[in-house]
Amino acid sequence: MAVTRTFSIIKPDATRRNLTGAVTKMLEEAGLRVIASKRVRMSREQAEGFYGVHRERPFFNDLVGFMVSGPVVVQVLEGEDAVAANRRVMGATNPENADEGTIRKAFAESIEANTVHGSDSEENAATEIAFFFSEDEIIG
Ligand code: GDP
Repeated sequence: MAVTRTFSIIKPDATRRNLTGAVTKMLEEAGLRVIASKRVRMSREQAEGFYGVHRERPFFNDLVGFMVSGPVVVQVLEGEDAVAANRRVMGATNPENADEGTIRKAFAESIEANTVHGSDSEENAATEIAFFFSEDEIIG
């Protein structure tokens, strides 16, 4: 299997509870390497653009409001089959359905405040990485 990249966000519920390190530790223990990282306060326009695919969903406004409610940490992760490895360690969207040993099982507060974002395909990973990082900020 190939070494690939994915995109991760440590969401405001986690930065508020000072869990950036704890979440990153679980990502690293899952075989992922942080090759770019920065803490940002997303603007409403950025959050709406980032989650544009969800624009028609009933929870869109709540989700955007949550994502701008505090700082986030955006990261590029690298590893064997990184998209799938990250989705495995993240756990199910709804923490009530998340498996033991996953980040969302350990830390998520609700289906919305669920601690982490992770790309769901390599194509989306490339788009999401480019949304926040220039190539010279990624040090593999
Ligand atoms: P993910 O890929 O596991 O993050 O899940 P989705 O792409 O389906 O949803 C994106 C994000 O929207 C989730 O991570 C949650 O933060 C939020 N979300 C998803 N479903 C719901 C919902 O039913 N209600 C609310 N309030 N937020 C949701």
